[in-house]
Amino acid sequence: LPTSMWVGDMVLLEPLNEDSFIENLRKRFDHNEIYTYIGSVVISMNPYRSLPIFTPEKVEEYRNRNFYELSPHIYALADEAYRSLRDQDKDQCILITGESGAGKTEASKLVMSYVAAVCGKGQEVNKVKEQLLQSNPVLEAFGNAKTVRNDNSSRFGKYMDIEFDFKGDPLGGVISNYLLEKSRVCKQPRGERNFHIFYQLLSGASGDTLTKLKLDRDFSKYNYLSLDSATVSGLDDAASFRTVRNAMQIVGFMEDEVQSVLELVAAVLKLGNIEFKPESRVNGFDESRVKDKNGETIQSVLERAFSYRTVEAKMEKVSTTLNVAQAYYARDALAKNLYSRLFSWLVTRINESIKVGLAKTRHKVMGVLDIYGFEIFEDNSFEQFIINYCNEKLQQIFIELTLREEQEEYVREGIEWTNIEYFNNAVICDLIENNQNGILAMLDEECLRPGTVTDDTFLDKLNTICAEHQHFESRLSKNSKFLTDHSLPHSCFRIQHYAGKVLYRVEGFVDKNNDLLYRDLSQAMYKATHSLMRQLFPEGNPAKVNLKRPPTAGFQFKASVGGLMRNLQTKNPNYIRCIKPNDKKASHIFTDSLVCHQVRYLGLMENVRVRRAGYAFRQPYEPCLERYKMLCRQTWPHWRGPARDGVEVLLIDCSVPAEEFAYGRSKIFIRNPRTLFTLEERRRAC
Ligand code: ADP
Ligand code: MG
Repeated sequence: LPTSMWVGDMVLLEPLNEDSFIENLRKRFDHNEIYTYIGSVVISMNPYRSLPIFTPEKVEEYRNRNFYELSPHIYALADEAYRSLRDQDKDQCILITGESGAGKTEASKLVMSYVAAVCGKGQEVNKVKEQLLQSNPVLEAFGNAKTVRNDNSSRFGKYMDIEFDFKGDPLGGVISNYLLEKSRVCKQPRGERNFHIFYQLLSGASGDTLTKLKLDRDFSKYNYLSLDSATVSGLDDAASFRTVRNAMQIVGFMEDEVQSVLELVAAVLKLGNIEFKPESRVNGFDESRVKDKNGETIQSVLERAFSYRTVEAKMEKVSTTLNVAQAYYARDALAKNLYSRLFSWLVTRINESIKVGLAKTRHKVMGVLDIYGFEIFEDNSFEQFIINYCNEKLQQIFIELTLREEQEEYVREGIEWTNIEYFNNAVICDLIENNQNGILAMLDEECLRPGTVTDDTFLDKLNTICAEHQHFESRLSKNSKFLTDHSLPHSCFRIQHYAGKVLYRVEGFVDKNNDLLYRDLSQAMYKATHSLMRQLFPEGNPAKVNLKRPPTAGFQFKASVGGLMRNLQTKNPNYIRCIKPNDKKASHIFTDSLVCHQVRYLGLMENVRVRRAGYAFRQPYEPCLERYKMLCRQTWPHWRGPARDGVEVLLIDCSVPAEEFAYGRSKIFIRNPRTLFTLEERRRAC
């Protein structure tokens, strides 16, 4: 494509096909144009280097300007969203999707900082803004880690509602977190690290603090810290530690709270260093014992909890001993639970600080969603299953809301609406979440069933029921999404997600869904003299020993995703679709095949088609007249009268066929992008 042929909006792409789509992205990327529109959707390419396009001058440039006036930018989306919130009283949500490393978290921060820059000023307001912005470094320290794909990968999903008063000044906010990848606490894949905070604490804390916490600065002393990538180029853990401490203070943590948090971080590291040895008894059973107790590493309460497990069988309590493998399992389960509960506590604590007081009147809300994208790995487990389910739900809401938006605009503008065909992924969502025979429901049923439950009994059940369901379904619709065929490897099932086929290995599903801690461990934690620790393990309170078991991980996730969807549905959506140009974390490299894959599963081509199905292009009358009036003698240089009539005169004069456009209440609608090109070409020739 010659430079003059790149388009800032894919809707105007001619001809429209996958090749031209990718070529357009590439050309723009090569010229540092990382943003491209599909109508009002922003595609964002990760530049992997800092570009001079996020300066205060840029903020000023985009402030209060119409979406199409300037070259595509994330600021244009942020501005549009903020203004319709402030001026039209419409709650907004910013939905950011894309795979790991595509730039979602950075995009969410750009949106937040833009809004912070353009909304109200004043001491009180500035304090609120600071607190909202500073919640990011805190959550990133505890919830992000270096992975193969991203040196600062978010290992949790995050949704933040920012609340504003009637003038558009921020009042506060609420953060929700989704599914922290807690397995990382005990074990990290090759080339990856544990959560940042561990390294930050050891590198950045003063000698005094470390002595108090009984920690050693040397990473290699800790079993839970991987060594092959302990230091990451470009990451300064010690400096980050200071940033995090400072951020915690701004957000409103008391000094003793910060201490408590760091003590629990230290406790996790020390848990990982507890080792067990077998102690053979007369009957030959290998009972576990804690190996050489080094000082205070372990208290006697914990020691007992790691050696025995109490099970309640019919009103009776039976203590059984743990063997060495079981003891290690219990240790890791405890560490993971302690850390993830600490993380949730941090979110709750931040929310206490940033929440809006009750006295305030009804407020306007802008939600920002930064959540893990689709994951299709070689080995996909429960975590991928849950993450991909969430992405199905987001896709569903994307379809629903984009179409609804389109439809509403037509109605608002008084233009006839014609139905658009699109792929509806509701069947996939149903396969996973249906209350009777959805996969999650069947998993729960297995987990709660008495008797021997294994991953394989779960798979058997799945195969039987889904196959039946599928048989039933297939009579109704040809496309069943639970794929069974003879090529399936052992202990696996396969789902046809909208983004592609994914093979899941059932190993660990039951266990991860159950997410149970031996009661002995919660009780041991509750007995600790540490008040935050007790708070994190309320079920360890002997007075509450008869509490029902907590809901399964799948059940909780489904409920929170359901809540999220209901929340999003009440808002006007704004989309940022992030794309990663290469998998080397490198600037200036654009790998076609990789981009193509993302374009496909983000459904971007389909998005353009929906947008073009009716009227591809629309613009308010005034800017349209301003832009093209030079093509028409009668409206040039100044049209007197309503802009709508001016546009009519203009289009007739330019002999645009009548079926090519429609007059909305405030906008002109143009059916074919080619029409607009013709106008643009004539304008250039003028
Ligand atoms: P995701 O949240 O999608 O996994 P991130 O937002 O963490 O991805 O981005 C990964 C990395 O890519 C960042 O740490 C940063 O180095 C780089 N990056 C992302 N967006 C930008 C941007 N707009 N400008 C410069 N670098 C960026
Ligand atoms: Mg992220």
